[in-house]
Amino acid sequence: MFEPEIAIVGSGPSGFFAAEALLKAGIGARVGMFDRLPTPYGLVRSGVAPDHQQIKQVVKVFDNLASNPQFSFFGNIDVGSDISLGSLRSRYDAVILAYGASAGTSLSIPGSRLAQSITASDFVGWYNGHPDFANFDPRFDHECAVVVGHGNVAIDVARILLSDHARLAKTDMADHAIEALRHSRVRRVHLVGRRGTIQASFTTAELRELLGLSDVRVVIEPDVLQLDEEERGFLELPVNAAIKRNFGIISDAASRGSDGEATRELHLKFLASPVTIEGTDRVEAVHFVRNRLEGPIACRRAVPSGERFSISAGLTIASIGFQGRPLGDVPFDDRRGIIPNVEGRVTGDSIGGASLYVAGWIKRGATGIIGTNRADAAETVRTLLADFRDKRWSVKTDRPQALAPPGNPRINFADWKRIDEAECRSGQEVGRPRRKIVSIDAMLDIARSGEAPATPSQPAA
Ligand SMILES: Cc1cc2nc3c(=O)[nH]c(=O)nc-3n(C[C@H](O)[C@H](O)[C@H](O)COP(=O)(O)OP(=O)(O)OC[C@H]3O[C@@H](n4cnc5c(N)ncnc54)[C@H](O)[C@@H]3O)c2cc1C
Repeated sequence: MFEPEIAIVGSGPSGFFAAEALLKAGIGARVGMFDRLPTPYGLVRSGVAPDHQQIKQVVKVFDNLASNPQFSFFGNIDVGSDISLGSLRSRYDAVILAYGASAGTSLSIPGSRLAQSITASDFVGWYNGHPDFANFDPRFDHECAVVVGHGNVAIDVARILLSDHARLAKTDMADHAIEALRHSRVRRVHLVGRRGTIQASFTTAELRELLGLSDVRVVIEPDVLQLDEEERGFLELPVNAAIKRNFGIISDAASRGSDGEATRELHLKFLASPVTIEGTDRVEAVHFVRNRLEGPIACRRAVPSGERFSISAGLTIASIGFQGRPLGDVPFDDRRGIIPNVEGRVTGDSIGGASLYVAGWIKRGATGIIGTNRADAAETVRTLLADFRDKRWSVKTDRPQALAPPGNPRINFADWKRIDEAECRSGQEVGRPRRKIVSIDAMLDIARSGEAPATPSQPAA
């Protein structure tokens, strides 16, 4: 046992799975996990949809890890602002960067900076009570909203916009979002993707749930269901079973026809890209070009056809990807939005101090589900251990006893548990899993006193 001290930056799934691999490696590792928020769990708390509580059960695994005496949580510390990465590197033997890649990619078309042209990242952060988005102000005062993108996050966004309000009000959605959506006038959502039915990256369960929402009429243009011979052959390949299943679900929804009773509509649109967003002070309409597909069947590209159409809408939400951000002097690949690495070891790092590693979305880009990060983080820890054996780093014999004090008060895991209990208690009183506290000041008050404020979800004035 060589008993290294390892810092992990970020307490999302990849940070916790890296901690798990280190603590189970039998090397006597001590882990210090840092997060810029007082709350742990990353996108499990601020990304996973509030009506998917089952998925959030993974935090029980993380809580179990956090109870290990070799593990410490330092919340409310932004590495890069409150403390420097350099000071972490002088204190710890190795540092794993697991700080995610959750900044939303914006549409870069004329009009995309208009008010109410937003990213899914901002919208999701807002309805999930991420403190950064407490004062965000999406408007639901127009009958129609446009969601651009055909992935699972786009599905989450469309489902939230179209869901029965009573259903959302029973979840842990932030109070401010429940309140704003209570008055929503949105009745029609256009979910638009640039490619065709067999290129969309929805997963089957999410697609089925969206197309089966109660009180929602699904509208799909029949043209998009016409496949040529090559496409039909593609669907028959065993490796494409999931794509074939999704195509079947889309075809079934299209053929179910109109439910005359439904009060809301989902227009699932394929082969179209937004080209301009129009409006004086805010979004009023989105103009699209229809696309055709070109290239080999397995990687068809969308090419504009010249044919145009427009949708009158008051809100546009772009769900076209997420990106990482650089941290200080750490090498960064701007094109891919990740930290360059080989199996988790940061490459091109010329700054001294502890060795640097990466895990999760900042290592490989914003792809994969929560579970994907377990194998990803395990790979990083394998590299880290191999590097120790190869003498690329060593355990410090002389280290500063404490880090320089950060500007913010620290939150340890017991503090977080007090916040957690306050949220759950307040939620249970009204039949909800929790009522999220959004204001960091309110969280810090609870961490110190253990008492919940009267209105836990209100942002600080
Ligand atoms: C909207 C959305 C919904 C999703 N839904 C699902 C789902 O239903 N099921 C599923 O399996 N997967 C889902 N995913 C994917 C899943 O959330 C990701 O695979 C996973 O969260 C990535 O983990 P991560 O640890 O790399 O990053 P993150 O979860 O983003 O964690 C990064 C952490 O780093 C912290 N941090 C950032 N910068 C700093 C800094 N400078 N200093 C200190 N800390 C910092 C952040 O506060 C955060 O806690 C969803 C993703 C999104 C975006």
